[in-house]
Amino acid sequence: MRGIEETAVPPFKRGVLTADTPSVAHDDQRPLVLLADDDGVTRAMVGAWLGRSGYDVIAAKDGQEALELAKAHEPDLLLVDVTMPGVDGYEVCRSIQDASAVAPPVIFLTAHTNTTARVAGLDAGAVDYMVKPFEEAELVARVRAALRTKAVRDDFVEKASVDGLTGLLNRRELDARCDAAVALALRHGRTLSCVLLDLDHFKSINDRFGHAAGDAVLREAARRIRSCSRASDIVGRYGGEEFMLLLPETDATAAAAAAEKLRLVLSGTPFELAGIELDVTGSVGVAAWDEPMMATESLVAAADEALYQAKALGRNRVELYSARTSPV
Ligand SMILES: [Mg+2]
Repeated sequence: MRGIEETAVPPFKRGVLTADTPSVAHDDQRPLVLLADDDGVTRAMVGAWLGRSGYDVIAAKDGQEALELAKAHEPDLLLVDVTMPGVDGYEVCRSIQDASAVAPPVIFLTAHTNTTARVAGLDAGAVDYMVKPFEEAELVARVRAALRTKAVRDDFVEKASVDGLTGLLNRRELDARCDAAVALALRHGRTLSCVLLDLDHFKSINDRFGHAAGDAVLREAARRIRSCSRASDIVGRYGGEEFMLLLPETDATAAAAAAEKLRLVLSGTPFELAGIELDVTGSVGVAAWDEPMMATESLVAAADEALYQAKALGRNRVELYSARTSPV
């Protein structure tokens, strides 16, 4: 009996969280593993193994708790017992896959040894399968392997959404985020603004100083734009020398003020390029979501219309779209 007690209450390492201690800080440098098993002995044992291998662990005692903790903590990997009361492991796995296009990997833990059960697990979306009883070294090695694969995938996902030159979101990602932001604004009746900024006379920079200098200007402009936007703003390179910002929870007045800040952050200080000081300015168009039936395209089209006005009225200025004077 003494031996069982020792297994049941292993010395938990720092970094092992349980549902009862959700306030323990998770170190972002350490991968976070969500462990779901209705068996307390397995939870304690596997939790201790992962803790001493450098992982942070959150433990859930059933499927429902696993789903709640996954939503709250966004773990890097899930170790899920197949047989649990209520929501079982298969269902946890499917819900996790459905919740995100880039869901964290799931490894099943189970007592089932037959092929049908393993196939069912892999079909539910799991990347791997461990049959109880398992050994520490193998479990940790499989966790490591799954996290390696995830890191490669995450890198691809990030590269697919980021503009290579400026590090801002690319056009494809902007379009997707724009659709999502509009849907959210519509559903909750919230304000949303779109800002389009186009660098003035950019072609002449390329012509006079070469494309490498043009690239340097785009990078510096992107850095300045990012530096004066909020964390919640969606900022990207819309194309060429044009940048887009989507400002959630921002009305026309606040968006126009933000746009003026953007204009000044570019024109306020000359850009330095290999010893040359260059005055760079931008024209800015702003459109605020205040027309109830405005669709994504027309929000961006309205900002584009305002940008066209800013260019026509002499550049290096901000224009706010007005439905009354310039219908799209
Ligand atoms: Mg079980």
